[in-house]
Amino acid sequence: MSNNGNKIELPASIVVRDLAQKIEKSPIDLIKKLMTNGVMATINQMVDYDTAAIVVAEYGFEAVPEAVEDDSKEETGEVPLWRQMIAGEDKSQLKGRPPVVTILGHVDHGKTSLLDAIRSTDVAAGEAGGITQHIGAYQIEMKGRLITFLDTPGHAAFTQMRARGAQGADIVVLVVAADDGVMPQTREAIAHAKAARVPIVVALNKVDKANANPERVKQQLAEMELVPDDWGGSTMVVPVSAKQKQGIDDLLEGILLVADSNEIKANPGGKVIGTVIEAELDKSKGVMATLLVQNGTLQSGDVIVAGTAHGKLRAISDYKGKPIKKAAPSTPVLVMGLSDVPSAGDLFEVVPSEKEARTIVGERLEIQKTAAQSRKKLSLEDLFSKVQAGEAKELNLIVKADVQGSLDPIITELNKLGQGEIGLKVLHAETGNIGNNDVMLASASKAIIIGFNVQADVDARRMAEKEGVDLRLYEIIYRMTEDIEKALKGMLEPDFVEKTLGRATVLQVFTASKFGRVAGCRVTDGELKRGAKVRLYRSSDIIYEGDLSSLRHEKEDVKEIRQGFECGVGFKNFSDIQPGDTLVCYILE
Ligand code: GDP
Repeated sequence: MSNNGNKIELPASIVVRDLAQKIEKSPIDLIKKLMTNGVMATINQMVDYDTAAIVVAEYGFEAVPEAVEDDSKEETGEVPLWRQMIAGEDKSQLKGRPPVVTILGHVDHGKTSLLDAIRSTDVAAGEAGGITQHIGAYQIEMKGRLITFLDTPGHAAFTQMRARGAQGADIVVLVVAADDGVMPQTREAIAHAKAARVPIVVALNKVDKANANPERVKQQLAEMELVPDDWGGSTMVVPVSAKQKQGIDDLLEGILLVADSNEIKANPGGKVIGTVIEAELDKSKGVMATLLVQNGTLQSGDVIVAGTAHGKLRAISDYKGKPIKKAAPSTPVLVMGLSDVPSAGDLFEVVPSEKEARTIVGERLEIQKTAAQSRKKLSLEDLFSKVQAGEAKELNLIVKADVQGSLDPIITELNKLGQGEIGLKVLHAETGNIGNNDVMLASASKAIIIGFNVQADVDARRMAEKEGVDLRLYEIIYRMTEDIEKALKGMLEPDFVEKTLGRATVLQVFTASKFGRVAGCRVTDGELKRGAKVRLYRSSDIIYEGDLSSLRHEKEDVKEIRQGFECGVGFKNFSDIQPGDTLVCYILE
């Protein structure tokens, strides 16, 4: 097979569409081939050289690495998205572009205040006057250089983007209140930034407060491997007061310095591609979407595809609402003319014609269908096979425990286990129940969640199921270490896996002579089955777990009942039911 004619040069990573083009095959066919090799990728996603080499071999090609200059990066995990985006660009055409910054931090530490303070430093924005429209991003000028800020504070936006494989920001500004110090969401933010390999600049906020204690915060940061520069470390920690607008210029200069040492580049004349920051349907204007251009130059009149939405851009405006003709890399723009509301984190790209746009969207919809049928997750059970196949070198974990006292020994145990061939990396460890944020972090970082003496919120369970996140609850430490040890050695017997059949809401409670107290329910999705397992929730607490012993529909005993129907449900040896409770019906497979 290795005749010269079949040799094909491949870069370190390549977009699926481009790979398909290169070997002159249909992208759908290629995606299906990838799937059969255990790789789920969308048409817009990057696959690495090794993966590409395996699939092209199936078409009879022999891959050879494309000659590259230098690029001595030791990155092994996630590669920043923009690097992936420019992977196919001519290196000589790459130019510096404004850094894109997102602000993360614990609630009330001053993210919103800081974004406002930064925005008000920009005289030009003030001169433009009027109320500037909030479009989810803005730009300011500092010493003649632009900085783009994503104006959607909170982790949700950042996490959502990461979970979708996108990554808008080049730099994270981590706000830590000097009077409060490192808090749970601070740790979460650090975990995210580290997993995404985005550099962090710390804004030590509220230094104006009498009880501010910057040294204590620096100590805490140092403990989290963010050693402040004035302590000889490499993390820039800038004291600021968002309220009194102090230190803002220093912070902006700090951002520029970090930007300079990270070579943030794009090709303004290259393939136009970027990320959807936010989008909504306006009653009179139609779909309004804020896009961040990340490579190439977007122009009004361009036809774009964003996720499964497409359209010819009728008008482009900047973040101040001023109509513009062109937007270079790192520019946030507001666009109109899309057929549908794309999701935050969707990638967009310019395509040659509306016809082509429709074809791509059609392909994507078909792929979504196929993908939904064979969702892949990294579960503890299949870890070993992944390692053997060279797909995983380490296991990412998120650990939640009831108290700090149990968290510490767990982490010590895990660190011991992670000494072998396969590393264990605890991305995030915290006390408290497992919530949505944990699942999003796990999904975005391909991690497994380990809960010790804690529960998972209803929403978190649902999301874990949807996102394909493996969530494992333990009550005894050695059970947990045993499982992980076995998984690392490839000896883990498949567990019983819980499969949700359906969900219902309790509308009323009545007493039936034969069954005792019965819950009058409506099935909200899936179906309920007599004899299956059931879990009853009151808000997020599990109040009953057991068998679904009786199931009736209009006085008839039934075996199962589907979504939309009402039914009476009786539980074995349990009668404390209240309207508003929800139940999840499941089986163990
Ligand atoms: P967020 O939840 O992180 O967005 O925090 P906010 O920006 O809403 O700020 C939370 C509270 O802290 C508000 O009452 C702010 O007025 C206050 N705050 C923010 N920055 C400062 C500061 O630099 N100094 C003082 N004293 N208060 C601040």
